[in-house]
Amino acid sequence: MDVLDPATGKPITTVCLGGKAEIDAAVSAARDALPAWSAMAPDARTQCLLKFAGLIESQADDIKQLSILDGGLPDMIGDSTAWFSALFLRYYAGWPSKLTGQTLPSSPNGLAPSDVLAYTLREPIGVVGAITPWNYPYGMEILKIAPVLAAGCTLVLKPAEETPVASLYLAELALQAGIPAGVFNVVNGLGEDAGATLAAHPGVDKISFTGSTEVGRHIVHASAGNLKKVSLELGGKSPVFVFPDAKLEQTIPGVALAGFMMSGQNCVCGSRLYVHESIADEVASGIAEFMKSISVGPGSDPANMIGPLISERQRDRVEAMIGRARDNGAEAITGGHTLPGEGWFVEPTLFRNCSSDMEISQQEVFGPVIAMQTFDDSQDYEALAALANDSQYGLSGSVWTQNLETAMRMTRLIDSGQVGVNTHAAMDPSMPFGGNKQSGWGREFGEAAMELYTKTKAVTLAWT
Ligand code: NAD
Repeated sequence: MDVLDPATGKPITTVCLGGKAEIDAAVSAARDALPAWSAMAPDARTQCLLKFAGLIESQADDIKQLSILDGGLPDMIGDSTAWFSALFLRYYAGWPSKLTGQTLPSSPNGLAPSDVLAYTLREPIGVVGAITPWNYPYGMEILKIAPVLAAGCTLVLKPAEETPVASLYLAELALQAGIPAGVFNVVNGLGEDAGATLAAHPGVDKISFTGSTEVGRHIVHASAGNLKKVSLELGGKSPVFVFPDAKLEQTIPGVALAGFMMSGQNCVCGSRLYVHESIADEVASGIAEFMKSISVGPGSDPANMIGPLISERQRDRVEAMIGRARDNGAEAITGGHTLPGEGWFVEPTLFRNCSSDMEISQQEVFGPVIAMQTFDDSQDYEALAALANDSQYGLSGSVWTQNLETAMRMTRLIDSGQVGVNTHAAMDPSMPFGGNKQSGWGREFGEAAMELYTKTKAVTLAWT
C-alpha cells in the first residue's frame, strides 16, 4: 500500500497490507503473550513503559519528521508529538502498582462477618484490539497502547490506512524498551478488511476504537459475536459560546484555533461558534484579521501553522460541504477556498449567517470550517444550552466569559464529555476524555482508561 504525503500528494513509502491471515496471527501472538505479561511484577511493567517513553523522546526529531510526512501535521504539532506520547506513557507507567481492589464488609450466605474475608481483584481484560484514525499519528496510538500495557493486557493495533508508519515505528521502539514480542502487535490494512476482522475476532476480548460515528456503529455490530467489550471515541460538533464580557484579545485567537488547529481535523474541533450579537461583528472581523497572521502550507516549513487535509477524498468532501453551506445562505467571512497547487490544502473558513438546521451546523466537517450564529439577551441559559445540545454529538465545548455564574451554569447545561471555560479542549493524561450521545462509549485518559482495560473479580474466603 502506498503511503502519501498530504502536502504533495506523492508517495513517500509503501507498507504491507495485512488482512485476515495477519490479524489471526497477531491475535494468536497476543493471546500467547498474555499470561506472562499480565503476571509480570508491576514494577517490571512500569520500567518497560518508562524506557519506552525515554526512547520516544530520544527519537523526537524522527517522530516529528515522520508525523509531518505521513500525517501532514504542522511543524508545531509535530514538535509536540514525542513529548505528548512520552507524557502519556509516563503517566500510565505509574498505574501497574496502583490497580487495587477493595476489602468489603460482607457477610454472604448467612456467614458471620468475622468468618469471612471478601475482597475484589482487578484483572487485565485480556487481548485488546485497538483501531485508530489518521488525524494525530503517534498520539492516537499511544492513547491506547499506554493504558492497555499498564493494565497487563496485550494488544493488536490496526492503524488508519492513511497513516500506517507511526505504529510500525512505535512497535520497533517498544521491542527496544524490553516489551516482549507478542505483547504489542501492529497490522496495517484496510478498515473493511483487517479492521472488520479484528472487531469480529473471537480471540479478542475488547475493542478500543477511535474514529467516525458511522464506523463505530459497524464495530458495535461486529463485536456482538463473542460479546466483547467495546469502548468508542467518535466524532464531534463541539459548541463554543462567546459572551459579551469575554476578554476578546484572548478569546478571538482562542476560538479561531479551537476551530482551525490541525486544519479542523480533530474530534474536539470547536466548529459551532455562538456569539452574543453585541460583539458578533467584532469577533467575526477579529477572527478574519487573526487568520491573516496564520499561514497555511506544508508542515516542513515551521512558519506554517495550518497543514493540509489528509487526502484528496477528504479535501473534496470539505470543498463540497463549503459549497453547500454557501448555497444555503452562509457567508464566508474569511477563507472558503481550496488552495491551488500540489497537496490538499483548504483555507480556514469562518461562515456567518448559519442556522442550526444547516448541514454545516450539524455534520462533522473534519476540516477547517467554523459555522457561526449569534444569540441575544432574550435567550436564557436553558435556551443557549438547547442550541448547544441540538446535535447528535456531545464530545467537547467551551464557554468564553468572565462571569462565574455564566461559566457555572453553561458548563452544567452543555451535554458533552468535556467543557472548557476560557480555553477549548484542554487535554491532560489525568483528565477523563470521551463523548456523550453519538460521540462515544466510555472514557479514556486518567483512571477511567484503567476501568476500560481491567475487569473486577469478587472473592469470598469463608472460615467454616
Ligand atoms: P474512520 O472511522 O473512517 O476510520 C477509523 C479507523 O477505523 C481506521 O483505522 C479505519 O481503517 C477503521 N475502519 C474503517 N472501517 C472499518 C470497519 N468496517 N471495521 C473496522 N474498522 C474499520 O475515521 P477516520 O476518517 O480515520 O477519522 C476521522 C474520524 O475520527 C472523525 O469522525 C473524528 O471525529 C474521529 N475521531 C474521534 C476522536 C475521539 O477521541 N473522539 C479522536 C480522533 C478522531
